[in-house]
Amino acid sequence: MSIHCDNYIDTHCHLYWEDFHDDLSRVIDRARAAGVTRMIIPATDVASFRQASAIAARHADVYLAVGIHPHEAGKMPYDFADELRQLARHAKVVAIGEIGLDYYYDFCTPAEQQRVLHEQLSIAREHGLPVILHNRESDDDLLAIVREHQDGSLKGQFHCFSSDTRYAQAVLDAGFHISFTGNVTFKKSTLDPVLSYVPDDRLLIETDAPFMTPVPYRGKRNEPAFLPMIARRFAATRHQSVSYISRITTRNAVALYQLERNPSNERN
Ligand SMILES: [Zn+2]
Repeated sequence: MSIHCDNYIDTHCHLYWEDFHDDLSRVIDRARAAGVTRMIIPATDVASFRQASAIAARHADVYLAVGIHPHEAGKMPYDFADELRQLARHAKVVAIGEIGLDYYYDFCTPAEQQRVLHEQLSIAREHGLPVILHNRESDDDLLAIVREHQDGSLKGQFHCFSSDTRYAQAVLDAGFHISFTGNVTFKKSTLDPVLSYVPDDRLLIETDAPFMTPVPYRGKRNEPAFLPMIARRFAATRHQSVSYISRITTRNAVALYQLERNPSNERN
């Protein structure tokens, strides 16, 4: 145990990214020293999942999500879903992600992205796994598709939330959790109202490392050890203590991703 009483779970960090190739073990050591007890690496395609699972094999506190990011959706062969079904059985996979829609970048058409998203939402339901959702300028379509799959059992995280409180309410009504990154610390952030709006039991925290670096390190590489800075902003905006933020976000992540289930009880 570290001397920190505040513990965190980084629900979204791309530790396989090339920015971490030279010093990943130091990055992970710094995260632990900062109170980050668990990290979830969402893949963006099959190749990044393989890299991520090599990291998870070396570190007990690193978990995985497997999925095809909307940027990669156009490259998927028609039968990609079978491979994904296999990979989702990996012992350390806790979610299907990172999946979703991105209408800002133009790497593939909305139709291609939607097809791949539908497939993956089906896989998540089959496996009883939550989803990690990426949304950029696709509020309406993403919510409509997710609702189509919502049979009462689908859960997940709208990651790096950057929409308004009205959208947040719709996301909450659909049964999902909401998380924020270093984006809440940016000078021009307009996220304070929505950050205060999310109820305690639906709030998650993440870095999205190596991206979305919080102030005052903006412009540098982000890493999980920076999570407490984001927590401090959560605390200030929501008028709660940092310890309280640490407790609720950890509790929510453990419950959503079933991080404390018996490892001898793996899904199969
Ligand atoms: Zn991401």
